[in-house]
Amino acid sequence: MGDRPRTTTGVRGVPGDPLVDRFGRVHRDLRISLTDRCSLRCTYCMPEQGNEWLARSSILTVDEIERIARVAAAAGVTTFRLTGGEPLLRADIVEVVRRLAAIRTPRGAAIDLAMTTNGIRLADLVEPLREAGLRRLNISIDTLRRDRFHELTRRDRLPEVLAGIAAAAASGLRPLKLNAVAMRGVNDDEIVDLVEFALAHGAQLRFIEQMPLDAGHTWDRASMVTRAEILETLAQRWRLTPVPGRGGAPAEKWTLDGGTATVGVIASVTAPFCGQCDRLRLTADGQLRNCLFSTGEYDLLGVLRGAPGVHGVPDAGDAAIDAGVDAVLRACVAGKLPGHAIDDPAFLQPARGMNAIGG
Ligand code: SAM
Ligand code: SF4
Repeated sequence: MGDRPRTTTGVRGVPGDPLVDRFGRVHRDLRISLTDRCSLRCTYCMPEQGNEWLARSSILTVDEIERIARVAAAAGVTTFRLTGGEPLLRADIVEVVRRLAAIRTPRGAAIDLAMTTNGIRLADLVEPLREAGLRRLNISIDTLRRDRFHELTRRDRLPEVLAGIAAAAASGLRPLKLNAVAMRGVNDDEIVDLVEFALAHGAQLRFIEQMPLDAGHTWDRASMVTRAEILETLAQRWRLTPVPGRGGAPAEKWTLDGGTATVGVIASVTAPFCGQCDRLRLTADGQLRNCLFSTGEYDLLGVLRGAPGVHGVPDAGDAAIDAGVDAVLRACVAGKLPGHAIDDPAFLQPARGMNAIGG
């Protein structure tokens, strides 16, 4: 071991080693944003107008995504989650899924391939996606009321989302999770209704505390509905029993009335789980991030497209490009901070909105 490369941060690693950071966290989950564009304009995520879209020429191609994913899998990543923006807006989404599903871990195991989507287009796409190798779906739905949905997402498209959820439920892809961002005075009176809706579809509802990631930078702690408030509301309807063994999962879970059905809460703000974080994020324009809230990024696009000086070989061969991707993965992991410190007064919101980072 003595002759293995050691970074300036003290983290060791060569291709094939796991991605371990300075705090001992092993990185096994890569969130892959496929586009920053979206069919909705959720107020907590995107501005109504004036979005500065990523240049189309900078969006990773399916070959580039596959290469990064393959190198990541060789370094111990076992889960890929496709997200965005809205991943189903990519015309080649089924091909992306097919290529990623074919990747194997160094031990020959299949990759856990999941997607987070707003559900629009899912009614048509769920079967082709399942056949291509998608394993799991998270679908976002913050309200069951059409007028409210229109107001919150600035688009009148709730029926398409509901059709997508029904199709996902019928597809047999399990576990099926529904995500809702709880907002004071907006949808906090639907907390119980949303859980009942999820149960009726064989799905698990997960409430997410609203985070300061809106492109308009309007986040306000007081309007965020906290984990404690969500649990208080749920406890008026069900007897909640904590489910042990959370591991690195962002959601804490509770069973309802002692049964098998569960509800989850992702308390990123009031009970951050950074100590267990095993995630890396790839933006649609090929920038690697070690946290939703990081202010720095690590350039993979330059490595893939042979930017001179990035890895010293302008038209590098396949092995050299793979080595360059691996080196960027390791540098990104080595630079990871212990936590996001949203509650710190010195906290700085990242320049990109959630849609451009990948949720
Ligand atoms: N468009 C897809 C969707 O909505 O599911 C995938 C991308 S979206 C950015 C992923 C998840 O991030 C969604 O569940 C969304 O509710 C959540 N999200 C977006 N902005 C958020 C914020 N400011 N705070 C908490 N969650 C947020
Ligand atoms: Fe689009 Fe998802 Fe952001 Fe809503 S949360 S605007 S659906 S990317």
